[in-house]
Amino acid sequence: MPGTLFVVATPIGNLDDITLRALRILNESDLIAAEDTRHTRKLLRHYKISTPLVSYHDHNKETRTPELISRLQTKANIALVTDAGTPVISDPGFFLICRAIEADIPIVPIPGVCAAITALSVSGLPSDKFLFVGFLPRKKNKRTQALQELKEETNTLIFYESPRRLLATLLELIDIMGDRKGVFARELTKYHEEIIRGRLFQIIETVTDRTSIKGECTLLIEGKKEEQDTSQPSVVEQLRRLRNDPDISLKDAVKIVVEEYGLSRNRVYREALKIWKGYPI
Ligand code: SAM
Repeated sequence: MPGTLFVVATPIGNLDDITLRALRILNESDLIAAEDTRHTRKLLRHYKISTPLVSYHDHNKETRTPELISRLQTKANIALVTDAGTPVISDPGFFLICRAIEADIPIVPIPGVCAAITALSVSGLPSDKFLFVGFLPRKKNKRTQALQELKEETNTLIFYESPRRLLATLLELIDIMGDRKGVFARELTKYHEEIIRGRLFQIIETVTDRTSIKGECTLLIEGKKEEQDTSQPSVVEQLRRLRNDPDISLKDAVKIVVEEYGLSRNRVYREALKIWKGYPI
């Protein structure tokens, strides 16, 4: 029997976010294959684990994979970890797992944290269906093309983004997809954890005054909304309620409803005119 390849999730910040099983597997494995051995050594030191480490990343996968497969075939148990979160999710490991499957090596997941799911869980955006996009391409034209392709997606979208590109990405998202609801999750599980919810433009307004945006960032935006029928009771009722408030103008009411329901301004305006002026447009 060959050994087992364990795919082990590690914390994305707070070192307490690791399972008892993950610690036991890291302790008992013959070898840990880590994206950055210096980074993983800090985690191992914290938990007093002395299992030997080798590096495994995208630049050495071609040479390292056959070595690891050969160790597994000679009964070694190997734990695969990355710098943070779940291996393979925007992280190294896919190549090794494919080769291990081909070689009939048992592969066991040791689940734990993933930044995308952690952010989604507190986002308040629909989580019944979502699309994990990960990192967008760096080149401008490829990024734009990727966003154009995602424009019609109706499910919540999850992006990993570098803080340096965040503002540019938010502006491009608004250009291509409109000012949708979004959530900016920074430094999750860490001391400077920050979660900003609002329209994309509001997120820009909140972070734009800072001299710099630092740390690990995950960005979520709502999927494309089916244009709701503006004559549906809730929208009409809301407009009627606003009409009864003498301090709220037609313009204010349209703004409030557009914001609340994510509808096109034009359509809400038409509906508001019916109520304010008494005639359809
Ligand atoms: N495999 C990891 C996982 O399961 O989440 C993701 C690895 S990917 C190379 C790293 C990216 O994940 C970061 O650039 C950031 O977008 C996101 N990320 C990681 N840690 C985070 C955190 N503490 N808060 C917010 N986003 C985080």
